[in-house]
Amino acid sequence: MVKTIDGRKIAKELNETTKEKVQQLKKQGIQPGLAVILVGENQASQRYVHMKEKKAIELGINSISKVFPETISESDLLIEIERLNDDPTVNGILVQSPLPKHINEQKVIETIDYHKDVDGFHPVNVGNLFLNVSKPYPVACTPKGVMTLLEKYNINVDGARVVIIGRSSIVGKPMLALMLNANATIIDVHSHTKDITEYTKDADIVISAVGKVATITEADLKEGACVIDVGQNLDKNGKLVGDVDYDPENSKIGYITPVPGGVGPMTIATLMQQTVEMCEWSKLK
Ligand code: NAP
Repeated sequence: MVKTIDGRKIAKELNETTKEKVQQLKKQGIQPGLAVILVGENQASQRYVHMKEKKAIELGINSISKVFPETISESDLLIEIERLNDDPTVNGILVQSPLPKHINEQKVIETIDYHKDVDGFHPVNVGNLFLNVSKPYPVACTPKGVMTLLEKYNINVDGARVVIIGRSSIVGKPMLALMLNANATIIDVHSHTKDITEYTKDADIVISAVGKVATITEADLKEGACVIDVGQNLDKNGKLVGDVDYDPENSKIGYITPVPGGVGPMTIATLMQQTVEMCEWSKLK
């Protein structure tokens, strides 16, 4: 029977470790700080930001929220980011997307001091990841969380055949670099790929980050494959489901991350982990 990779359990353990690290830092008079910027009143964004603030507070991280109206100009937003760049109590800065259309998201990312880029989206950090430099740097939280799940479940990556479906800057591309750095052999497929099954059918690990129900079914996979479902979709009944269609009771898949309860909980836990790591790294500078 398919084994479930329990993201909630691993996220809980990771949060416990993060909380302990925060307590140790506090004994030295240091408190990690996470600044979260929200622009506008998008309800999903408000919910995500609230979840991040709540988790940061729970773990003892100093949570700094900056909420701006939809009408804030790009230049005013960049000034606010510069202020956080200069604030020594802030270790991580996160700007919740999406941003209003009049604000250039790339400019916003590039304005964040790359030492405080807790999302790992800044070109310097993306470059560090692709160059696999040896010094520490932040990495996009969802793919980093996926690597933690694989490690915790002792799923071998070194030498494995890995197919990643999707090539976005926040999931697919950093996932590809992390896998390559971990010595996997990678194929990245996307909306222009002619026959995805041709690649997935031989893969030891398939990671789907598309955002479409039933992108992958049992017929696309080899027996015993490990399947990481990053997708978050609403089915026709409004239920949260992933990209992968499988039968939990009768599947040939080896491992699967369920949706919900797989990759999702790891993203926020990794964000907290990385905030604390960045606080520690800032002392090394
Ligand atoms: P995205 O920016 O929309 O990228 C989707 C990728 O899927 C693109 O590279 C696209 O190819 C590819 N694609 C689209 N249709 C395809 C098809 N039929 N076959 C193969 N590839 C196809 O999305 P994203 O931000 O990476 O997110 C992907 C999914 O992960 C979403 O459901 C999102 O909600 C979820 N997500 C979950 C978490 C979490 O914490 N669990 C975090 C982030 C994202 P092209 O590049 O050719 O357009």
